[in-house]
Amino acid sequence: MTQANRKLTILATAAHPDDIELQIGGTLIRYVKEGHRVVMAIACTGNVGSKMHTGPEIEAIRAVEAANAAKVIGAELIIMGHKDGEVWQDNATWKEYVDLLRHINPDVILTHDEHDYVHDHSNVGEMTYRAAIWASVANIPDTKNPPMTHIPTVFFFETIGAIRSQPADYYVDITQEFQQKLEAFRCHESQHGDFLEKQFGVSDWFSYLEALGRLRGFQCGAKYAETFRIAPTWPNQKTYRLLPPIQFGPR
Ligand SMILES: [Zn+2]
Repeated sequence: MTQANRKLTILATAAHPDDIELQIGGTLIRYVKEGHRVVMAIACTGNVGSKMHTGPEIEAIRAVEAANAAKVIGAELIIMGHKDGEVWQDNATWKEYVDLLRHINPDVILTHDEHDYVHDHSNVGEMTYRAAIWASVANIPDTKNPPMTHIPTVFFFETIGAIRSQPADYYVDITQEFQQKLEAFRCHESQHGDFLEKQFGVSDWFSYLEALGRLRGFQCGAKYAETFRIAPTWPNQKTYRLLPPIQFGPR
């Protein structure tokens, strides 16, 4: 296999079931279409995501919804089992992310950016980012998996509501994937009629997807797009493109 058609492993990490579909569903679908392996790792069970079900009830419902959404995308799914609101930056949780990266062995990581609206989001983003180099380092005490042989490249996706989103470094055209993205997001049925409206007063999250997708598309000359910021530290910058369409270029 030449460099130009090498297949990648993509790891998307996020705090809650539905975050990934909402923010980067289209990009993941594009990766899958291009033949790359996509893994979605969700930190929390979604146990507070209901005002009518108990924690254990809504966890079970959301696990099924997340599995259905991952199937629509064509991704593998890992639910790490934290409770909502309980993801903090500590040594033990950081090591969980080191071990997750070692287990999945990703080439590319997509995760929450800083300044997102709840700490689960920004903490997952920071710990994933700060595990990326260390996952390849040996002799870290209390880790389960052997070190990776390479350092993955980290990109951040937009905050919820695009509030304090930083200027995009990269655009991904998701025009062809937009309806499939909606289908994946729609799998989280327990949220749409109940929780998101009662909790946040938003009855139609699809209009947000439409508005943001169209705006980002307008900015780059596509109908719909999603955007990313590259982790601003060495060695994330590359001379080739790791977001769809993958363009390694000649070697
Ligand atoms: Zn979330």
